[in-house]
Amino acid sequence: MSELNAESTAFRAALEAVRAVEPRIADAIAKELHDQRESLKLIASENYASPAVLLAMGNWLSDKYAEGTIGRRFYAGCQNVDTVEQIAVEHAKALFGAPYAYVQPHSGIDANLVAYWAVLADRVEAPALAKAQKRNVNDLTDAEWAELRQAFGNQRMLGMSLDAGGHLTHGFRPNISGKMFDQRSYGVDAATGQIDYAALRESAREFKPLIIVGGYSAYPRKVNFRIMREIADEVGATFMVDMAHFAGLVAGKVFTGDFNPIEHAHIVTTTTHKSLRGPRGGAVFCQPELADQVDRGCPMVLGGPLAHVMAAKAIAFAEARRPEFADYAQRIVDNSQALAEGLLRRGATLVSGGTDNHLVLVDVDKYGLTGRQAEQALLDSGIVTNRNAIPQDPNGAWYTSGIRIGTPALTTRGLGTAEMDQIAELMHTVLSQTKAGASKAKFDLDPAVSEGISKQANDLLGAFPLYPSVDLGV
Ligand SMILES: *Cc1c(COP(=O)(O)O)cnc(C)c1O
Repeated sequence: MSELNAESTAFRAALEAVRAVEPRIADAIAKELHDQRESLKLIASENYASPAVLLAMGNWLSDKYAEGTIGRRFYAGCQNVDTVEQIAVEHAKALFGAPYAYVQPHSGIDANLVAYWAVLADRVEAPALAKAQKRNVNDLTDAEWAELRQAFGNQRMLGMSLDAGGHLTHGFRPNISGKMFDQRSYGVDAATGQIDYAALRESAREFKPLIIVGGYSAYPRKVNFRIMREIADEVGATFMVDMAHFAGLVAGKVFTGDFNPIEHAHIVTTTTHKSLRGPRGGAVFCQPELADQVDRGCPMVLGGPLAHVMAAKAIAFAEARRPEFADYAQRIVDNSQALAEGLLRRGATLVSGGTDNHLVLVDVDKYGLTGRQAEQALLDSGIVTNRNAIPQDPNGAWYTSGIRIGTPALTTRGLGTAEMDQIAELMHTVLSQTKAGASKAKFDLDPAVSEGISKQANDLLGAFPLYPSVDLGV
């Protein structure tokens, strides 16, 4: 018998330790790998992190409290956390060519909160302190503090509308950002499905926001951040970009020049687990002027940093600095465009007519379906996507009229443009064979069709094993 490789040995040993305490958890972890291997995953926000990234998280760095920043902690004995955070920061700065990086945020939402507080501190708190000739909020009188608190809650934000692909954290009411900020949205041109920069400029002139937020979760095109920065400068706004979805395309130098947010924004936030392929987490990049405010993230809005996750971020950033990652990023977009072309050729309607990035938005109204019906019919056929609103969506944010599909995960698995065309065929078959039912959630699809498609989807994946170096022996 050949010897087990190091990765299989490591994961098996970890599961054995877990199993000794609670076998059901070990089973769920093992089953997750099995299920991921079997599923044709087209969720635009998901990926598969490397074994090195995953293994960097399972250790005693998790035991350490390290509130504060590198070298300035509220706890003693943080020398190893300092080392880990410093290395993660170094790789992050080099990867993105950013002057400053903060790698503590536990998620994308947390990164946005850090950024919002940094901007509020810079634009609202600092001027208020200067006016009162005080150095610290604790030195303000109760009346001055009451005034400042009011001011924090009355600032304006201009962000992308949800149905155009914006994110809840860009000032929408179900998220705290919508409660903190007076939000106005910019959308897309109805005819092209692309951002209307002239309308955005006009809206910014009229609304005079403190912050303009660029970035999205479901917009299939490049965004011209140079123009957005010009608009921000014209109206005196701070320009923030949330690159949670497309950070991998920035890291891989697919988005350069006008389309690289790092070159144009005052502050940039990201997740680390989407196209960037790292651990679940977030990060903030900024111009040096904002660095002190960003560093206040913990304990301003974050709990103690997750040192084990920062270790995994360092690994992911280091991996993304390798030339192979640029190749990976380009293949994500090649695959997305092949999928879009395959769908268009078969008669599908896509929001904006195509894609420049890692995602495609299918208008399933053209198949006579809601997003909810289409999502479930595809899932029943072994194809994992998610429903998503489209611009001016007639079915609202719950049922929707769109299906969002993304290629980062399958590209990691090794699928290429030929397979994308096959997937377009499978999707088109499911969508055109599905008939809307009595409600916006119900539908009819011949089980023979869904079973046949499931089998084809599975056969397709057979040639592209997921985590080929990991054999759990079950
Ligand atoms: C996914 C996403 C987030 C949130 O990330 P979490 O890690 O889930 O908190 C924030 N902003 C945008 C644009 C996203 O797509």
